[in-house]
Amino acid sequence: MPIPDTPLSFATRVVNDYSASRPSEEYGAVIPPIYLASTFAQPTDGTSPVYGYQRSGNPTRGAVESALAYVEGARHCLAFATGMAASATIFSSLHTNQRVLLTSSVYGGTFLFAQQFFAARGISADFVEDFNSLQTIPEDTGLIFLETPTNPTLRVTDIAHVVQLAKQAGAKVVVDNTFSTSYIQDPLKEGVDAVVYSGTKYLAGHSDALAGFILTNDHTWYESLKIASKALGNPLSPFDSYSVIRGLKTLAIRLDRAQQNALELRKFLANHPAVERVLAPGWFSEQEKEIHRRQSRGDGALFSFELKKGINFFDFAAHLKLIRFAVSLGSVETLICHPATMIHENLTPAERAKAGISDQLLRLAVGIEDVADLRADLAGALSFVTPEK
Ligand SMILES: *Cc1c(COP(=O)(O)O)cnc(C)c1O
Repeated sequence: MPIPDTPLSFATRVVNDYSASRPSEEYGAVIPPIYLASTFAQPTDGTSPVYGYQRSGNPTRGAVESALAYVEGARHCLAFATGMAASATIFSSLHTNQRVLLTSSVYGGTFLFAQQFFAARGISADFVEDFNSLQTIPEDTGLIFLETPTNPTLRVTDIAHVVQLAKQAGAKVVVDNTFSTSYIQDPLKEGVDAVVYSGTKYLAGHSDALAGFILTNDHTWYESLKIASKALGNPLSPFDSYSVIRGLKTLAIRLDRAQQNALELRKFLANHPAVERVLAPGWFSEQEKEIHRRQSRGDGALFSFELKKGINFFDFAAHLKLIRFAVSLGSVETLICHPATMIHENLTPAERAKAGISDQLLRLAVGIEDVADLRADLAGALSFVTPEK
């Protein structure tokens, strides 16, 4: 299919995958079929097949990879069974005696990986609280792994500044862009080496599939990560590849609605007597607000808030009727969770305090419902726990 000459906007690109390898030419099907085959009959004349064995490649996985690369404007994309499989494959390219700098309140699973596997392999990990104020980094740094805005405290890191820091040491920079997606923030355009996603969240978008992705413009690194994925045996299944292809089509419209809902709910909560404060990108300082404005096109649909001291979060959560008390984010339905016990339980209380995760903190991942219903649900549950004046 010919690619239109005029640059298409994001909302059009997610719906229309004009990438070359779309495997639907035979009948003109408008979506790619799900190829479940684990193996493919190979030519007997010695030429190499396009697909041989599913772990190495599959047409449905190829379709989601090219669709996401097209949406992101990236040269290469690799699809993985989970977001953690994508991050673990990045980490598998580290060598002994290298150092990794990570965002201090990095995703719980990434923290667990660093804790379980780095030391034993002679890799040191430093958890950095504020990259924005760093002027230099250690010379043995091989990789900087960023999450911005952070989870669940929504702190903002200047991606372009970190890219400059990394250049001094010859380190690679990877951004976990799960919370924003390239609809909101485009780390590859800021010069990072790769972006990773938990496709489980906004990309698939319906709480019904696990997936992970690496996007990069670095051909050499792509080739070696592809071999690593084959060796680790962690690529995305055909069915979940299809789930992401399907979810991706509504990414822009879902995020438009969810972001608008989140903004309304933030305003409501900020003025509620049972709420201590609301944490959204830029809340921490004027500097972070400025960085956020410069490198992103929206606040996303995820934010946190602290209940006033003395209010028990279980009492509050027990009175919610619509919003579900569950981990994860990025889906059509609104979810609320208690980070200290549900997503950052691997951190010690001291590490949690350092990362700004108090026991009163709740994280709201806003969905696409009617915002009036969401507001009423929060108001109802808060009325049960608001202390009498
Ligand atoms: C969920 C998540 C991951 C891990 O993704 P899985 O698909 O659950 O393996 C990584 N990073 C962030 C920011 C996430 O929210």
